[in-house]
Amino acid sequence: MGLRDYGLGDIKVEGAPRFERLLEDVPGCPHCGCARIAIIKVNVVDPRLTTGRGVGTYQSCVACPWASPMACVAASAADAGPTGSA
Ligand SMILES: [Zn+2]
Repeated sequence: MGLRDYGLGDIKVEGAPRFERLLEDVPGCPHCGCARIAIIKVNVVDPRLTTGRGVGTYQSCVACPWASPMACVAASAADAGPTGSA
């Protein structure tokens, strides 16, 4: 179990999360009140995704460990890697 609760239980993240941008006009972190919330994307691997892998997006406080639940989008079959020849 990592420091973050990604919102999908035991979903497996792959590689380092990527900082996308800071959210503007947010009320602030619900945990500590910090006004800066970042959008983070990270690659995920999970059998619940149609192609088995995808990209998760979540919001993260820059000042404390708070993070929102993660929204996952499955990668397209073409992006999911080789599937072998039929
Ligand atoms: Zn916070």
